[in-house]
This record gives sequence, structure tokens and C-alpha cells, in this order.
Amino acid sequence: MEEAFNASDFIREIVRDDVKGGRVRQVVTRFPPEPNGYLHIGHAKSIFINFEIAREFGGKTNLRFDDTNPLKEDAEYVKAIQEDVQWLGYQWDGMFFASDYFEEMYQRAVLLIQKGLAYVDDQSADEIRETRGTLTEPGLNSPFRSRPVEENLVLFEQMRHGQFADGAKVLRAKMDMASPNLNLRDPVLYRISHALHHNTGDTWCIYPMYAFAHPLEDAIEGVSHSLCTLEFKDQRPLYDWVVRECEMPHVPRQYEFGRLNLTDTIMSKRSLKQLVDEGLVDGWDDPRMPTISGLRRRGFTPEAIRSFVRELGVTVAGGEVDYKLLEHHIRQDLSPKVPRAMAVLRPLKVIITNYPEGRVEMMDAEVNPEDESMGTKQIPFSREIYIEQEDFMEVPPPKYFRLFPGNEVRLRNAYFIRCEDVVKDEFGRVVEIHCTYDPETKSGSGFSGRKVKGTIHWVDGHTAIPAEFRLYEALLKGTEEELSPSVDLKSRLNPKSLEVLHGFVGKDLEKVAAYDKFQFVRQGYFQADPKDFRSDRKVFNQIVSLKSSYPMK
Ligand code: ATP
Ligand code: MG
Repeated sequence: MEEAFNASDFIREIVRDDVKGGRVRQVVTRFPPEPNGYLHIGHAKSIFINFEIAREFGGKTNLRFDDTNPLKEDAEYVKAIQEDVQWLGYQWDGMFFASDYFEEMYQRAVLLIQKGLAYVDDQSADEIRETRGTLTEPGLNSPFRSRPVEENLVLFEQMRHGQFADGAKVLRAKMDMASPNLNLRDPVLYRISHALHHNTGDTWCIYPMYAFAHPLEDAIEGVSHSLCTLEFKDQRPLYDWVVRECEMPHVPRQYEFGRLNLTDTIMSKRSLKQLVDEGLVDGWDDPRMPTISGLRRRGFTPEAIRSFVRELGVTVAGGEVDYKLLEHHIRQDLSPKVPRAMAVLRPLKVIITNYPEGRVEMMDAEVNPEDESMGTKQIPFSREIYIEQEDFMEVPPPKYFRLFPGNEVRLRNAYFIRCEDVVKDEFGRVVEIHCTYDPETKSGSGFSGRKVKGTIHWVDGHTAIPAEFRLYEALLKGTEEELSPSVDLKSRLNPKSLEVLHGFVGKDLEKVAAYDKFQFVRQGYFQADPKDFRSDRKVFNQIVSLKSSYPMK
């Protein structure tokens, strides 16, 4: 892994003080996803913070599934989340499920009832919402608020045993309906839901709410620092109340940091699930998705994602991060590591008229100019080659240094060629060009007779392997508000988010396997798609473009 992260931020300050002051003997953090979807790049930030901080202080990190809502959760997500966390480079010390603690949570709720701190409320969800008050007005006490303890105990037990329908009753904390913090106005602790749970089946028909369950989960596991995103800040007093009033022997503390938001990116699992369910993308791992599995399929590396979230740091401030920063990190990571190769995405055939028919020459090509130890490879060259359509113009604009009638360019790793003639079809479109080559100009021969301004890439025509290239743009377009979970996502879809091209790669890519990554010269970084790639069907996903290079160097 990368060098230790010695940054200082407000959370690390707190942890350091707690350890120094002896308040905390062992640092224990947790990453607590709800298994109701796949992880996204925002979760990577949380994973990074939780695992790295614990590691720096010699502590532990749990993976805990916060599975308290059976209607939305699924074992498929549990599996996918584990895979993604490990792929990001982290191994949890313990893996737990909130549902394993349902019995203990129930007993703690009974304790609250016995202490006169919780009551069964017969009001409907709507009534509870309507009597909650506003920021300027206090709420109204429920008519059931002063139910005797004995009655509450009986009713709560009946709730557990399935004697009431969904929504007929809830268990609420008896706190303060006039509290300026709306979270403390008798929050709901338990609701009835006759649903099958992915882990506990039909054992339970009442389920704890997040605000009650989360602090108990942390306390049961001995979590020292419960790190979460800012929207939970106002819940902190409730968190502390639950731990205290439930008389948990271990006292965890909650701290909040800023959520990651990316430009043109939607991050809520609910919205991402909608894209999947409506068939607007090719599953959770569609390469345009901001999910970890989508980024992996696209060709991102765990190293790049980690260095991206490391650069973000642990700030409280929110705000959108430019997607370009993530792209910067993947380029930084791939550039020294991956082989260069030539691929032609939009092919135009070139015949080199003075090159002997049937002759094949092997040309030397550096695998990666940034790393000599990666050596050289041999690529075939013959009378027919493919170049990019955009590397030829019949009528060139000023400063166009590529091929046009009469002009000479360098073929990377091969010869200089000069355009002599153009072949058109019946509609006047250029379908083939004829060139001559100069045998003196072979790459590596030290030829210094004259210079040309343009160098273009190519693929040998006789050995070219057909390939599909998938180019991506942002899946959605819009400002932060325009992409909020409440908008109609369909209206925000970018019609240009996927472009499929059919071109060629060279024979040097004959043995390519899923997940292999390349820099296609002048085109960008690509990965062999792990889902659709077969030995007879080469599919490459563009991970990220190179920086724009026009006019060509
Ligand atoms: P979503 O709204 O995407 O469903 P969530 O917060 O409901 O996200 P959880 O599964 O509850 O998802 O999240 C697990 C942990 O990841 C939580 O501690 C949460 O705060 C954190 N997390 C989720 N989204 C982000 C984000 N965009 N940036 C940083 N941390 C995040
Ligand atoms: Mg959630």
C-alpha cells in the first residue's frame, strides 16, 4: 500500500487526543453500509477514512451491514459490498450484521419502556408527521404518550409477536416534543413490517429504526469512533441518548465529515437503483455508473481511487468535487504502469503503393517509454495499413500537420509516408488513400534527412484484429440540484454517454484478457471489458481520454 497517511485533520486530532488521554484503549471504526444497493465512489471515501484511521492507530475496522429494513435489502448486495471493499484494498477485522443484534436491541427497547422513556403509539405515520411541529413551532404530544409502563410492555411484546398490521403501531422514545432539534421530538424507535428479512427470515416483524439501531450496533461492537457523514450531525444528541439510556457498557462517539459529491454524478443508491431497474444502464456495473463495480469494469484501479480520496482529505465542508480530479488520478496511476499499443478506432485504409506486395517487416516498439524495463515489442508492417479517419483531410485547415494530398507524415515506429492519391466512393466519400513510403526513414535507423511535423498511429492491415471500442461521457448531465434524487433521471440522461466504434487493434493484442489495460496511443486509456470480452470479440472500454493534444506534437 501507499506510504502512511500522516495528514492531520479534525478527526485524526480527536482520535489522537482520545488515545493519548487514555479515554480510548483501542481505536475501533466501522464501515456500515445498508445492503440496499452497490457501493459507489462516495462510499470509497468513507471506507478509506474508516480503515486508514484505524490502521494508523493500530486499531480495528469492522464491516457492518446495517440491515434493518427488510423491504430494500438483499443478499446480492451483501456479497457485492464485500467484494468491493476487498477490491479497494481493505480487509475488515470483523464482519457483522445489525440483524444479529435484533434480540439485544429488543431487550434494550424494553429497558427504555421500563424506565418510562419509550411508549407504544397508535397514531399513523401521517399523524406522527403532522404533529411533529416545525422549526418554529413545537410538536404535539401524542394522545398515547402517557400510557402506563405495563401497558406499553404488553403492547410491545404483542407487536413483536405479530398481533398488529404494518403501520398500526410504533414504539417511540419519550423525549421532548418541543425540542428545537426535530430529531428529539419523540423519534420512532421501532416499526412493524411483516416482511421477509434476507438474514432473519420471518423471525421478526418489528424492525428498529436507524437512529435507534446504529448507536446500539456501535456500542455492542466496541466501536470507539463512529465516523459518518454530515447529515447525521443533528442526530448526534439522539445517538448519545440511546447509548446512555439503554445503559450500554461501551460508549462510542459519533463524528461527522463531509459527503463526497462529484460533478455530473448522482450518488444516491436509490437513484442508481432506479437507473438499473428501468434498464437505462447495463446493470450496477455499467462502466458509466459511479459504483465501485462500474469503475472497476470501466478500468479504474483501487490505487487511483485511493489516491483520489486521499487527496480529498477529511473535511467538514461539502461542495462538489470535479470529476476531472478523479480522471487525473487514474491517468497518474496508469501512465507509468500500462503498455502502449496502437489501435485505430475509426479506420481508413491506406495502401502503400511502392511497398512490395507480400512483404512483412517487424518493427520495434517500446512497450512503455516511461519504463524502459518493460522492454520492446515487435509489430508487423506491410503494404496495407489502417489509420484514423481524422488523420487525413482532403482539404486541410491551417496548422493541420497530418495527412493530406502531397503531405508527408511519420508513421509511429515505422516509416514516413506521403499521400499521393485518394479513392472515393460513388457518394464522393474518401474510402481509401494511396501513399508512398520512403525506405530511408525507417524508425530507429537514425534518419535525419528531413523532418515532418506530424506523427500518426496505425495498425497493420493484414494482421489487424477487429475490435469494438466504447467511449464514454457522463451518464447524466446537470447541476447538483438538477441531479437531486427527486428529479426525473430520464430527463437528465446524456444521449452521448456511450459511443460504440468498430475499428482494429494490432496483432500484439491477440492474447489480451479481460481487465488488461492499455494506453492506446493518442486515444486514451482503455481496458478489455470483463463482461463482453471474448477471444473472438475484443471489446475495449475507454477509461479516460488523454489530455487533448490538438494541434499534434
Ligand atoms: P446513499 O444515499 O448513497 O444510499 P447512504 O448514506 O444511505 O448512501 P449507507 O449504505 O448507509 O449509504 O452508507 C454507508 C456509509 O457510507 C455511511 O457511513 C455513509 O455516511 C457513507 N457514505 C455514503 N455516501 C457517501 C458519500 N457520498 N461520501 C462519503 N461517505 C458516504
Ligand atoms: Mg441509506
